[in-house]
Amino acid sequence: MLDTSTLLIIDDCAADRKIYRRYLLKDPHQSYQIFEADCAEEGLALCQKIRCDVILLDFCLPDMSGLELFDRMQQEIFQTSVPVIMLTGRGDEEVAVQVMKRGALDYLVKHNVTQDVLQLAVRNAIKQSCLQAQLNKTQERQRLIATTALRIRQSLNLEQILNTAVAEVQQLLKCDRVIVYQFAPDTDGKIVASSVESFRTVALCDRVGAEEKAIEQEAGSRGKIPLLCTLPHTRSQIPNPESPIPYIYELGLCNCVSLKEQFNTQANLVVPINLSNNGNPTPKLWGLLIAHQNSGERHWQTDDAQMLNEVSVQLAIAIQQAELLAQTQAALTKEKQLNTFKSQIIATVSHEYRTPLTSILAAASTLAKHSQQLDESKQERFLGIIEQKARYMSKLVDNMLLVNQFELEKPTFKPILLDLLQFFSDLIEQERETTGDRHELIFNITGHTQGFWGDRGLLQQIFINLMSNAIKYSPDGGTVEFHLIGKESEAIFYIQDRGIGIPVRDQENLFQSFSRGSNVDTIPGTGLGLAIAKGCVELHGGDITLSSEVGEGTKVTVSLPKICPISQLSPSAT
Ligand code: ATP
Ligand code: MG
Repeated sequence: MLDTSTLLIIDDCAADRKIYRRYLLKDPHQSYQIFEADCAEEGLALCQKIRCDVILLDFCLPDMSGLELFDRMQQEIFQTSVPVIMLTGRGDEEVAVQVMKRGALDYLVKHNVTQDVLQLAVRNAIKQSCLQAQLNKTQERQRLIATTALRIRQSLNLEQILNTAVAEVQQLLKCDRVIVYQFAPDTDGKIVASSVESFRTVALCDRVGAEEKAIEQEAGSRGKIPLLCTLPHTRSQIPNPESPIPYIYELGLCNCVSLKEQFNTQANLVVPINLSNNGNPTPKLWGLLIAHQNSGERHWQTDDAQMLNEVSVQLAIAIQQAELLAQTQAALTKEKQLNTFKSQIIATVSHEYRTPLTSILAAASTLAKHSQQLDESKQERFLGIIEQKARYMSKLVDNMLLVNQFELEKPTFKPILLDLLQFFSDLIEQERETTGDRHELIFNITGHTQGFWGDRGLLQQIFINLMSNAIKYSPDGGTVEFHLIGKESEAIFYIQDRGIGIPVRDQENLFQSFSRGSNVDTIPGTGLGLAIAKGCVELHGGDITLSSEVGEGTKVTVSLPKICPISQLSPSAT
């Protein structure tokens, strides 16, 4: 079937109009719907009412010259060039050239008009005008995409990039809603940015706050906008990530029922967001850019898909840049932390080592110089000082190495099935030997303690540190209670002392290396014990908390899962 084009003949000569009409209706390649006007005013009025594919315009009209009419048409009716073929008399070619310069498509000298000439001229004019319209459209599209890309790539903050992208695409495609869906490393993903209809509210799905609630309420009250949700999917249901071609993804074709329900809508346009993959030809599928229309039916055009795909390419570049920046910033922060940590180590070493070293040197030189004058008990006392201070220094080195390990890499974690009762009995016994009689150690065990897997060395680090703290920070003595409560899937331990306690303002930072309470006075310590304990607890997949009151005492609670998560295990232990 032939396309029908709309044609308007503006000519005051009825006979000529009749001839042109006859010629054109005989065209075997094109069909026409023809309108006629015998003066300029009538022609203008018709142009206002109908969209003409081409206009045959007589140069000489009773109420206005064809040139004037052409100018008025351009000013009043058409934004783009008027698809006009000028009809002139013999000798008027100069005027015709003027009109052509102003944008008319062609001109014909009336006396030369034959059927073939007219048919061909009109067909060419239509074709040219179509091409021009297409070109204009493509240029406009490129301009819009370039502006959108510029806006998207103005920021290096991922959240901002995504929010700008959804808002911009919504404007570009004039659709109800645009969302960015990000895949997680496993099969599930989530919506990370969403732009909803005209009020253009944007929310991050994982931020459960007033903003999201507002959208949900808004969505609920409209009854048609889907709530923010996590989209269930499997990789097989998403389009081929390698395909660079945009596609129209009808939800009706998707066999994922819940996805369909969540997006109770006719059609969605979905394109992949592909990041480049370290020189690998297969890109990394980061997520999806989805435009959808909740209200009414929308038939997505290839043009829409192309635009969405081009924006998705720009979005991918912006995401990649933001991710790179975030990685660099994280590395920089880590580097700074390590530098601070190293400085702290140097400061601690110089400070904490000086005192015991001075004592060791003094005791050793006294022994060396005056051993003959010293009786046996004095000699033993000096040797005792040397041994005790050397042990202290050795422990300090061990602690710093361990903390260093936690800062740089995870220490090895090899859990075994442990008899908790035996483990703690040994530990308490050991503690009792070194604790003087000013402290009373109470050990209490309840519940079901079997089936506990843990790393013996790391557990010793935890509980020796906690017990030695309880004793050390109770300088006036008192009871130190140690409770172990065995539960179904976890073991809970708490250590309670009646010592000096910790000021509230200091409590927050105590699990960081080198942090000490402001009330320790002359009680020695390096501030590493709790950092080590926390690191070891975390390796077990557990939790450590502390509550304390100055002058009343301190209670530290440790809860450990009986079987630690597989993700925690060292590679050699799995
Ligand atoms: P070390 O590295 O030798 O253990 P430290 O005891 O100072 O030194 P942490 O065990 O990390 O270091 O404890 C950090 C700080 O927490 C202590 O300096 C102390 O101020 C406070 N603290 C810890 N446990 C107790 C407790 N049971 N009673 C009072 N204060 C405590
Ligand atoms: Mg300590």
